[in-house]
Amino acid sequence: FVHLEDHTKDKSHVIADKDDSRRTRDLDGGKIAVGIEGLIGNTPLIKLKFLSDATGCEILAKAELLNGAGNSPKDRVALSMIKLAEEEGLLVPDRGDTIYEGTVGSTGISLAAVCRARGYKAYICMPNDQAAEKSDLLLKLGATVERVKPASIVDQEQFVNLARRRAQEHTDDPDRPGRGFFADQFENTANYMAHQNTTGPEIYAQTNGRVDAFVAGAGTGGTISGVALALKPLMPDMQVILADPQGSGLYNKIKYGVMFSSTEAEGTRRRHQVDSIVEGIGINRVTQNFSAGMELIDDAVKVTDEQAMKMARWLVEKEGLFVGASSAVNCVAAAVTARSMGKGERVVTVLCDSGTRHLSKFWKEAGNIGDADVEYTLDDILG
Ligand code: PMP
Repeated sequence: FVHLEDHTKDKSHVIADKDDSRRTRDLDGGKIAVGIEGLIGNTPLIKLKFLSDATGCEILAKAELLNGAGNSPKDRVALSMIKLAEEEGLLVPDRGDTIYEGTVGSTGISLAAVCRARGYKAYICMPNDQAAEKSDLLLKLGATVERVKPASIVDQEQFVNLARRRAQEHTDDPDRPGRGFFADQFENTANYMAHQNTTGPEIYAQTNGRVDAFVAGAGTGGTISGVALALKPLMPDMQVILADPQGSGLYNKIKYGVMFSSTEAEGTRRRHQVDSIVEGIGINRVTQNFSAGMELIDDAVKVTDEQAMKMARWLVEKEGLFVGASSAVNCVAAAVTARSMGKGERVVTVLCDSGTRHLSKFWKEAGNIGDADVEYTLDDILG
């Protein structure tokens, strides 16, 4: 891996220097993965052949859905947050410690799996409007799940605030073994550092250091910030493009410097919830993880639910690739970016998770491929 400068004021050195297992799959003798942690990172980069042909560019996608613990980029983040907490003495295996998190699913699934592998329990708070297969999976992975009404971040009952409180209640309770640890993926900077130290360098190595644009959505902002922080110093001409679903405030923030140009009442309503069927990306506030790399983001592309669903179907029809909503949003934005850049450029994006996580919501809306005789072209999708 390339040597990376230490850009951060805080804890990146702890992660970057001490523990090489964060950087790559831990293959014993190069052939055997050691436990599920050995299946985290070093994901392939896949060339999307039809999307590349249709745009005249090379569209490459980091197949993060092939991380082998929770099957999303959050595997890297879960491992990074847990290892840092262990190094700081906040978590001790097999003491009864429980990791608490507020998450719409992917991070919880990764945390639940990595927790079990490292001697912890997981307690996940999530809004009750999320796809049921995600909370079911958490329960099967041995996590405790508390589902709550969707609420604004300023509300004490909001799922992230609730997870923080539950962690404190655990620590304060003398009758419970171990401590509660609030993982805090939105504000915990071990999140973007996982991407700065692993995802970004992997992309650099896989492309021999030639990327013209990197396109990704932001849920916590960890992926886009971490990859931008890793790659921009090495490839200063590379464009970093935010893929933002409809209803998210980040597009406005990148384009115009403000999230809400409308009235205060509208702002309050919008902060409550992002109005999109896309789960996992799109947010109406600037988190620590987003702000870490925000200055490095050159532009943003807004993607409608309609475009995302058409793209998701197209990826199945053309590429045989069944992905979730945020991956489809990324691919729409990658295609828009490719078209605006002209032929022959190389655009890298991310496939975050499989369509199987989105059967009851996004893919229910998107329909079955065999049912309709419509075949979209890329022009139909981009509009
Ligand atoms: N895709 C999915 C399915 C996710 O769950 C998330 C994170 N919540 C993301 C993409 C976005 O990643 P990040 O948090 O690094 O911005």
